[in-house]
Amino acid sequence: MVHPARVKVKKSSHFNTYSVRGEPEAGEIVEAMADTVYERGMEPLASLLADIRACRHCADRFAATASAHAPRPVLRASASATVCVAGQAPGIRVHRSGRPFTDPSGVRLRAWMGVDEDTFYDTARIAILPMAFCFPGHTATRADLPPPKDCARLWRAPLFEALPAIRLVLLVGKAAQDWHLEGRDGMAERVRRWTDMPSPQSDAPCAVETVPLPHPSWRNNAWLKANPWFETETLPKLRAALSRHLPSPS
Ligand code: SF4
Repeated sequence: MVHPARVKVKKSSHFNTYSVRGEPEAGEIVEAMADTVYERGMEPLASLLADIRACRHCADRFAATASAHAPRPVLRASASATVCVAGQAPGIRVHRSGRPFTDPSGVRLRAWMGVDEDTFYDTARIAILPMAFCFPGHTATRADLPPPKDCARLWRAPLFEALPAIRLVLLVGKAAQDWHLEGRDGMAERVRRWTDMPSPQSDAPCAVETVPLPHPSWRNNAWLKANPWFETETLPKLRAALSRHLPSPS
């Protein structure tokens, strides 16, 4: 395993090599954090999760929003998880519940995946890691603010480095796709391209498969209606990918 101190920030689409991305100070922060993990001698993932749950990096930024809330990181992961749901950021309902996707988007996403709540929230099999772990806040007109980019710059690379079993990453929405995939294509192009690609063989070596998806928010209802192939072609392929990578419950 690559020592996390060498992990500066973001990688590309294969999750096993990382490169610098973002301002230099972000990489410095990650490096300092990784050193702390090893100095403590703690298991890297448990230590990282503890640090993330204690993170207050965006406290001033959130206090200045119309919702004037405090940070509350919401994420789920275990070292055995083979599937990762990479969403955008918690909304206000998830901020209150402390559990990811406890909203209509979660209902739709589970239907797309063909999994029930017990499976979706089985941390031993599925990690849920949005691009920002905290609710970003509301504007004065109660619109959702975008996820703070600092969150991914600070935490994402070392977190994936501490999750060696991940084999399938669902990139739910453009923010996750922009981080995990190369290029600057739009969401629709990425989903269409993945849908048209031949599926990997079930005995493929340890590569990580990435699946771009639209966000299941009601905001994408018009897109879903205008692109019926998503339901008839993409979703069966998504469920086949899950059947390849999601183990039976232990
Ligand atoms: S969004 Fe991320 S960086 Fe900001 S306070 Fe929450 S965990 Fe920390």
